[in-house]
Amino acid sequence: MGKTTTADIRNVSLISHGGAGKTSLTEAILFDAGSIERLGRVDDGSTTSDYDPEEIKRHISLTSTITHFNWKDHKVNLIDNPGYADFIGEVKGSLRACDGAILLIDAVNGFEPQAETYWKMAGDENLSRLVFINKMDKENADFDKALASLRASLKGSLMQLQIPIGSGKDFKGVIDLVKEESLISDKGKMTKGPVPGDMQEKVAEARRILMEAAAENDEELLDKYLSEESLSGDEMLLGLAKGVKEGGLALVLCGSALFNQAVEPLMDAIVNFVPSPNERPTPAAFEGRDKKEVACDADPSAPLVALVFKTISDPYIGRLNFARIYSGTMRASSTVNNSTQDKKEKIGHLFAMCGKEQGDVSETICGDIVAIPKLAQTHSNDTLCDESKDIVLEKIDFPTPVYSVAIESKTKGDDEKLSTALSKLAEEDPTFVIRRDNETSQTVISAMGNVQIEVKMDKLNHKYGVQAELKEKKIAYKETIRKSARVQGKYKKQSGGRGQYGDVWVEFQPLAQGSGFEFENKIFGGSVPKQYIPAVEKGLREAMAEGVLAGHEAVDIKATLHDGSFHPVDSSEMAFKIAASMAFKKGVAEASPVLLEPILNVEVLVPEAYMGNVIGDLNSKRGRILGMEPTEDGFELVRASVPEAEMKRYATELRSLAHGRGSFSFEFARYEEVPKDLADRIVEEI
Ligand code: GDP
Ligand code: MG
Repeated sequence: MGKTTTADIRNVSLISHGGAGKTSLTEAILFDAGSIERLGRVDDGSTTSDYDPEEIKRHISLTSTITHFNWKDHKVNLIDNPGYADFIGEVKGSLRACDGAILLIDAVNGFEPQAETYWKMAGDENLSRLVFINKMDKENADFDKALASLRASLKGSLMQLQIPIGSGKDFKGVIDLVKEESLISDKGKMTKGPVPGDMQEKVAEARRILMEAAAENDEELLDKYLSEESLSGDEMLLGLAKGVKEGGLALVLCGSALFNQAVEPLMDAIVNFVPSPNERPTPAAFEGRDKKEVACDADPSAPLVALVFKTISDPYIGRLNFARIYSGTMRASSTVNNSTQDKKEKIGHLFAMCGKEQGDVSETICGDIVAIPKLAQTHSNDTLCDESKDIVLEKIDFPTPVYSVAIESKTKGDDEKLSTALSKLAEEDPTFVIRRDNETSQTVISAMGNVQIEVKMDKLNHKYGVQAELKEKKIAYKETIRKSARVQGKYKKQSGGRGQYGDVWVEFQPLAQGSGFEFENKIFGGSVPKQYIPAVEKGLREAMAEGVLAGHEAVDIKATLHDGSFHPVDSSEMAFKIAASMAFKKGVAEASPVLLEPILNVEVLVPEAYMGNVIGDLNSKRGRILGMEPTEDGFELVRASVPEAEMKRYATELRSLAHGRGSFSFEFARYEEVPKDLADRIVEEI
């Protein structure tokens, strides 16, 4: 293949519910294209894309893997993605880097929930979409049934590009409906032939439907089709490509990844139907301080603009950033501007990656994907641009982590080691966040689900040699008062040696939520001398930090110092501080103290059929339903306010409530009083 131009590049991402065969398909494609010499297998842990020890151990993909191959004078970057819901962030980043997505479907199972999530995500990024119904070799594989289940659940028009020849043990290959020829696959070898006699009628009917779909995408073709009632194969390709590239039409193919059957026609389809980078609009780009929107042309001689969509941070290979180049050319041994961080970065090598294999390249043009080792400051979502430019690309909207637990190192002295390792793990996963919660004194890690957390724990152990354990995340309860109380706090110790004397009268009053603590001094005439007033305030503030019910911070209280008395020799700052804290304990206890808990505003998106489940469950969680609205695609958006304490495991619970088809997000709303019986239990536990 000669020098690659942007028009020759195709970037595609494989998406599916876990286990539909993406990693196996990647392997078959790379093998057929000659990128690899041996066909690895997921079950043997020998594939190109599942190379990480944690992936090999589990036989599932945990991160997206970038591979590439040459096919019919095109360079194709193929990204294999995880399917399991926890790793949605990986899929999100890879979709941004691509121009097309291929949805894999298991020919036995048909539609599965994650297919829908990723299908929508690809649609949101305006990617062109193809469908590959895989595992046609399996007993009970049923192409028509699988396709019907997709048509019932996925948005957009799905058109069959092929008809399978046989299924299960008898699966032989496919009929290409455009060319009207059979493609028989045997042990990875493809033989073309005529349409078998007994399939001719079925093929003619399916071809007519496909032809009509092709004609509908182009006025000229439609005119021709209406007057001549037929289109040539080339005209069909033209019309179909237009439909797919405009996003409304998705073509359906089939085959067997494991047995490498009918894989080549899919590779042809990538070249024919996925748009080249210069056929797609570039993402929004903003220049300079005033963030003026600027064009970002897919022209290799224009100034460089690239977006980092993935970062690997590994103790052995170091840091590797993956970037999609939107404009200009990136060169090895050059300096670029990380315009997001406002830092200059020196690029040494550039790699074209295929799994873990790094192929050195001297430059990468716009439209292509490249890996850049050893950048000091750069991670996912940073824009790299020409040294003299300040252009920032629209960011990838990674999902916000919704599952939180606390983490501690098992060995006392390992805290530092743990926090360094955690920050490395966070560096390579935008959906993994670490936070020190000062209110509960815990280190809290958040992710999309418990499997993602398990994988992090294994990585901590195996890659970083840190032994850590998970703890339940504590809820940051608070305390406040509901009534006013005026009390005396008196601290007096006057037996032997120097005495202690402090005496205050303080009134405690409830304040509006969010007010915190207010202190007012109403002493006239020096019953508490001026120099001790700050000590009184300090004593009250310190007492606030530990509440009186269950040791949680007290909030929204006003304390007014009205009166007191002192002793000319025995009074001291310390004595007044203690007297103030005594007043606090007594006053709050008399002022109807209550426990407050954090309440979240929650939004749950589910198919209508599961709305009843979700609402019933939220009610049982002491939630209040605020409203429901249907969305465009037959889902319902349920809004509710729910105590945080009830939402600890919602990420996993929602999956079973909505059969994997729900998603949710939340934000802190306010504090509310914990119901009496529950509050009593919490206080008792303390
Ligand atoms: P992924 O999760 O989508 O990457 O799926 P994998 O490629 O890891 O495959 C999941 C399982 O399905 C593995 O056990 C594969 O061997 C098996 N598999 C994948 N493709 C096929 C296929 O075409 N036919 C059959 N029979 N099994 C397949
Ligand atoms: Mg996989």
